[in-house]
Amino acid sequence: MEDIERALARMADGTYGLCVTCGDRIPVARLEVIPWAEQCVKCKARGERRR
Ligand SMILES: [Zn+2]
Repeated sequence: MEDIERALARMADGTYGLCVTCGDRIPVARLEVIPWAEQCVKCKARGERRR
């Protein structure tokens, strides 16, 4: 699954766990549920997306 591969790449470059949209830390509780999450709940809810 591509999301997981991206999460692994982000772990390698040190940005894992940071929201790709606003740069804030994604809460650990969210990462436990969705380890490949790329956005905090706030940005996800707003539907913003950046690649
Ligand atoms: Zn965010």
